Amino acid sequence: MGAGEFDLIARIRARAGTRDDIVLGIGDDAALLAPPPGRHLVVTADTLNDGVHFPHGTPPADLGWKALAVNLSDLASMGAEPAWCTLSLSLPRSDAVWIDGFLDGFLALAREHGVVLVGGDTTRGPLSISVTAMGFVDAGRALRRDGARVGDDIWVTGTLGDAAGALALLERDPVGVLRLRLDRPTPRVEAGRALIDVASACVDVSDGLLADLGHVATRSGVGAQVEIDALPASDALCAAFDAATRMPMQASGGDDYELCFTAPADARARIAVLASSLDLRITRIGRMVPGEGVHPVRADGEPWTPPRRGYDHFATS
Ligand code: ADP
Ligand code: MG
Repeated sequence: MGAGEFDLIARIRARAGTRDDIVLGIGDDAALLAPPPGRHLVVTADTLNDGVHFPHGTPPADLGWKALAVNLSDLASMGAEPAWCTLSLSLPRSDAVWIDGFLDGFLALAREHGVVLVGGDTTRGPLSISVTAMGFVDAGRALRRDGARVGDDIWVTGTLGDAAGALALLERDPVGVLRLRLDRPTPRVEAGRALIDVASACVDVSDGLLADLGHVATRSGVGAQVEIDALPASDALCAAFDAATRMPMQASGGDDYELCFTAPADARARIAVLASSLDLRITRIGRMVPGEGVHPVRADGEPWTPPRRGYDHFATS
């Protein structure tokens, strides 16, 4: 991007901030970082593409927030404490106003979690934002997808389907509560860290509850039975859609960024305490069962067939 590229990088560097464990941040060929001894480094990366992962025309500040949020959500699902991130930007043109807006959102969320931007790349091309986030977890203590056991309860934080609802209302309701859930998801970082002592397995809900819970079932070698009528819905979602329309959004809509976790039944009291101390709704939605796959059922026990199971970027139909 010629001179523009260095101008943009200078703007980013000026606002990046620092932490004690950063030996060398933005400005050299690579960053030098000092992970704490005895802890595991947790690393995750996620890309947002224009028109695929966000509606074309989404304000840059919302994009900045979301690009980091989806990565912090992955760290949260591992029970990690976020520390550092990198940012690779592909931009159609060198645009200082766009960068400043983007950083407003990105750095606001970074500051909330003590995360510092330590490097990245800036190129010209179709709008695409790629973030790598790094954090720490005590060695051997990370939450994983493969720890669920038959008989474990299945839980989910927050509410489901808000982002899917916002997408369905895109034209009619561009600024409502649901739209905020789509554009500014809340990564459940504190919940993830607290769940280390409680959960047997954990995943963040990015592609739709049933699809993501399916990963836990597969990796754990067990099945999952989900009570569809127990899935938590926000007041805003209930106000906007009837139950029949809402249900597939909650079960299979993407972009929730809540945590779905499993825990032994004797952890119920501890989870209730945790929910109140975090001031976060945590809802029991089913249990792990012998067999394989995810089995959604109605309150009367009848199977429920979802219209679609999450978002697959390479699906042909
Ligand atoms: P190089 O050509 O050696 O890869 P760059 O000119 O791409 O170096 O980057 C210079 C410095 O700016 C590096 O420290 C890099 O990590 C950082 N950087 C580049 N783009 C970004 C960005 N979008 N966000 C944060 N840091 C960036
Ligand atoms: Mg470079």
